[in-house]
Parts: sequence; structure tokens; C-alpha cells
Amino acid sequence: MKVLVLNCGSSSVKYQFINTENKLVLSKGSIESIGSSSAILTHQRYDGDTIKITGEILDHDLAIEYVIAVLLSKNHGVIKDRSEIEAVGHRVVHGGEDFSGSVLITDTVIQTLRENIELAPLHNPPNIKGIVACLKHLPDVPMVGVFDTAFHQKMPPRAFLYGIPYLLYKRYKIRRYGFHGTSHLYVSKRAAELLGKAYDSIKIISCHLGNGCSIAAIDRGISIDTSMGFTPLEGLLMGTRCGDLDPSIPLHVMAKEDLTLAEVNTMLNKHSGLMGISGVSNDMRELIKTMNEGNERSRLAFEVFCYRIKKYFGAYIAALGGLDAIVFTGGIGENSFEVRKEVLTNLEFLGIELDDEKNLIQNGDRIISKDSSKVKVFVIPTNEELVIALETAQIVSELRKEMSNKS
Ligand code: ADP
Repeated sequence: MKVLVLNCGSSSVKYQFINTENKLVLSKGSIESIGSSSAILTHQRYDGDTIKITGEILDHDLAIEYVIAVLLSKNHGVIKDRSEIEAVGHRVVHGGEDFSGSVLITDTVIQTLRENIELAPLHNPPNIKGIVACLKHLPDVPMVGVFDTAFHQKMPPRAFLYGIPYLLYKRYKIRRYGFHGTSHLYVSKRAAELLGKAYDSIKIISCHLGNGCSIAAIDRGISIDTSMGFTPLEGLLMGTRCGDLDPSIPLHVMAKEDLTLAEVNTMLNKHSGLMGISGVSNDMRELIKTMNEGNERSRLAFEVFCYRIKKYFGAYIAALGGLDAIVFTGGIGENSFEVRKEVLTNLEFLGIELDDEKNLIQNGDRIISKDSSKVKVFVIPTNEELVIALETAQIVSELRKEMSNKS
């Protein structure tokens, strides 16, 4: 099935057009700076043909129209008719408690997404805009919503409740949701394949380490705990986000520095994490480079980053009651052998033995633990677009089957 995968942000639309039968990306691209007169469309076809166009694109509706137009383009496109777009898969950040899996998008689903806007005020509105634009430009094409939160919806209450008045959970849905679900699902399933074991028979810790970072404890196919919480601010240290924090700290800083809510929000989301501690960069490459040149604050940021991951390993091994595999993914997880080494050092007593040579190999899905290691450690590049395309194809195929059974 040929599926258009859309990831609509506040001022950008990223897309991939994927043939799910052979997993080939027929074309991919993005439109950045939507809302301005200098929006940039970049489009790349499977054969390498690339174009870049700058022009006025004032809203998501127009952006989606451009995406379809470029797919249809005589010189740079990959389809002759819009009917060749058989389905659209939308990445949706927050499904709240309403979605524990991907769903066919209907009017009721859109209404439920609107009701969940408060949970993700920055992300869900552009996701909805993308869906509404597709309804207009591709009215006969089935659409599926794939949620960042859905994979974590089976967490038990003991893992998702916070120690605040229960009333606040009931009234405002304040609880742990977790994010990066499509990525954790993809890499953990792939790890089971590489291990040659049934997904629903093993225990996995999955580490998604990119600009945003999260870790998940996956017990026989179910995410039973994860480090991101009500928002993607909790948990591991990230590029510019603080991760776990004593809740009194923002209150204290607000009082001391006379900050507004918005200012403290910016401080925790944009000026903290690797950037905040090092004062050098939020980019792990830059941090490691400066650390190796002797920058003490870069070293501190690196150490805090790795130590926190290690601490979560301890917690999640206990929560899982054992462990078969660890997976690293995301820009840092896939590329930084330094981070992997620091995180995995001295864990032999848990049956985790890193193979230093394998850890240096830098491409594709790979195992980096020693043959003797009881717990296998994998590096698996994430592919969220492919997961969205496959989920979409599966749901649409089921729908087609149902319809043909009825007729
Ligand atoms: P996003 O979460 O925005 O998708 P990525 O998954 O691309 O981000 O991850 C970005 C992070 O990956 C940055 O901190 C970047 O420094 C880091 N990164 C990318 N390549 C390397 C590398 N070779 N070594 C260390 N870190 C890397």
C-alpha cells in the first residue's frame, strides 16, 4: 500500500510517501517556516532527485496542497493521480487516555483530539490542522492517527499516577503519559526479531536518546513504565530540557528571580539539560568534543546525562523483574559510542557486558554486547515514519476486508 505519512508541527510539515509492501520511501521532504512569505519546500525522490523551493505558504491547508502537488509533479513527482495515495498516516503527539493504539480518523476521533488539546497545546493543534487539510484535499482517502502516547497507555496505575491529590488526575487528567511511543515500539520489536525470540516473551529496556530523550520498560510487549510523564519534560536529561527535578525548584527560582510562569517554563524547556549544565551546547557532538578538549562543564553535563540513564536501568530492571535486552536509538543512542560506553560500564554484575569493539561499529541494526553477555545490547536506528506507514496500512487493510465481507 502507498501511504503518505505526515508529521505536522506548528510551522512545519514533514512527509514521507512510503510503499509498505517493500518499505521503499518513494519520496520525502518538508515544508518549513509555514506562515511566512519565505517558506521552504524541500523534496527528495527515491532516485536522489532533489528540489528546494522558497515561497509564500501561509497555512497548513496550503502546505498540504503543495505536498500533494509535488508528489504529482511531472518532473519531480512519483504519482500520476491523487488516487495513488491509498492512505494517509498522521503522527499525533497526544492521544490522552482515549487512544491506546492507532485509529482510523473519523469525525468523532477529530472531536476527541480537540478535547485533548489542553494536554498538548503546542503539538495537537497543528496535528489537527494537517488532518483537516487532508480531509479537504484527499476527501476519499482513509486516514489513520498514530499517537506518540498510545504505546504507553497500558501502563498500570502504580506507574502512571503522581503523588498529588487524586482529584487532579480526575479533573485535569494529570498523570504520566509517556512519549516516543512509535519509536520504542519499533526498536523493541526489532530487538526481539534480532534476538530470535517472541516479542511477547521477553523483557526490554528501550532508550530513545535524541534531542528529546526517554527510556521505557517493556514487559512482554507492553510498556509498563517510561521516563517522560505528563509532558516530555520529565525523566532523562535532554538537549535543553531538565528532566527529573525536585518540584520545589521552579517555585523557588520563580520567587528568587521574580520569574513569570512563562519564563520558568522557558527556563526548564529551553535553557536547561545539556545546554544548561554545560553552558556550551545542547548538541552531544559539540559537548563530547569540548569535553575531550578539557572543558569541565561539558564533562559534568555528559556525566549527569549518562548517570541518569544508568539510574533508570536499575529502576526498570527492578520493575521488570529481569532483563533480556537493552536497545539504544535516536541521534545520540545510534551514534555516540562514548555515551553507550559510559552508560554500560560496570554493569557486568547484572549480566550486561559491552563489547568495546562492536560498540565502535557505526551502521545499521547491530548488537554491541559480548557473546557471553546474558543481556543483549542492540543499537537500532529508529524509523518512526515506517511504523506510522505500517500501522496505517494494517488498519486500512482491515477496514477494506471488513467492507468487502459486508458487501
Ligand atoms: P530529534 O530528537 O530532534 O529527532 P535526533 O534523534 O536527530 O534528534 O538526535 C539529535 C542528537 O543526536 C543531538 O544531540 C546530536 O548531537 C546527537 N548526535 C548526532 N550524531 C551524533 C554523533 N555522531 N555523536 C554524538 N551525538 C550525535
